[in-house]
Amino acid sequence: MTDLTRRRFLALTAASTVVAGCTDIAADTSPVVHAPGSSPATTTPRRTPKPATSPPPAPPPAKLQANELGQLPVLMHHRLVTSSAGAYDQTPDFFRQELERLYRENYHPVRAIDLARRDLTAVPAGKTPVVLTFDDSTPSQVAFDSAGRVESDCALGILRGFHARHPDFPAVATFYVNRNPFGLSGAAVPQALVRLTALGCEIGNHTWSHPNLHTLSRAEAEAEIGKLAAMVRGATPASPCGTLALPLGVHPRDSSVLARGGRGSTAYRNLAVLLVGANPSLSPYHRDFDPMAIPRIRCSSHRNGRGPLEFNYWLDQLATRPGLKYIAAGNPAHVTAPSSLRQSLAPGLADRAIWWN
Ligand SMILES: [Zn+2]
Repeated sequence: MTDLTRRRFLALTAASTVVAGCTDIAADTSPVVHAPGSSPATTTPRRTPKPATSPPPAPPPAKLQANELGQLPVLMHHRLVTSSAGAYDQTPDFFRQELERLYRENYHPVRAIDLARRDLTAVPAGKTPVVLTFDDSTPSQVAFDSAGRVESDCALGILRGFHARHPDFPAVATFYVNRNPFGLSGAAVPQALVRLTALGCEIGNHTWSHPNLHTLSRAEAEAEIGKLAAMVRGATPASPCGTLALPLGVHPRDSSVLARGGRGSTAYRNLAVLLVGANPSLSPYHRDFDPMAIPRIRCSSHRNGRGPLEFNYWLDQLATRPGLKYIAAGNPAHVTAPSSLRQSLAPGLADRAIWWN
């Protein structure tokens, strides 16, 4: 496990305080409108329609303890099984408990591609971005019924059910798929990919056949990545794969093959590579953020595995270590952080920075 003491973080003097956004309780000052022929004495005032303007300004950064140079969890999931058999498995109940904890602790799901593009502008004030990733595209992750609806007991169904109860927790995730994703074949494959994209999820590249990339030649590794990229682009041309999760967590001998390769229909470009293990990610605005090596925290409920320890350990760390956690300021045009972190800002962002304290 990574030694966090090697990481730079700020010791803030006060505990984090999350302040909810203000409710619009402005007085109704609209003029009274009379229907033709009606008497003014019997006409009641109408509520002013809520104007389609920007939301109220975010609370001050110091009040939020805003820290957009802090760290955030990228969570790695595999199969959902009712009886956990392997160190990468988790039960549906464990996944539900994970969502409950994330929501309770003010996390806000985004996709891996958002992290790769260094765009966390959608994260509301006081929230911490979290990326939910799923590897290997098993049917336990995404399944549709005969009417094309998402099955309620697959991972996506559980996530969507949670979102229905908590609309401020988006049902978005990144699915790292292989050939025959989710156990599908033929026309069902592009239909599922189109559907997933329409639901706001990201389709990521996990290679065609899930090989150990280190054992392959460059041309073979390129073919593995390019063939999968072609399958996704064929289904969703506007949303080609833009991120890749390493099968088995193993790098190819020449890592440059991960970023781009192929030709024609198999041409691909990945803005980010996701690892297997084992700690939170740096903020994409941090100068040391490396999109080609994004760490992930394993989520598993296997009794003999270390999954629950990894997930709970790191969420405990983010909850309790002052200054460690990314906390959004709710000011999308800017990067807001304590002034003591000035030296940690990535190059090119100085014009967008807001420092407090
Ligand atoms: Zn895998």
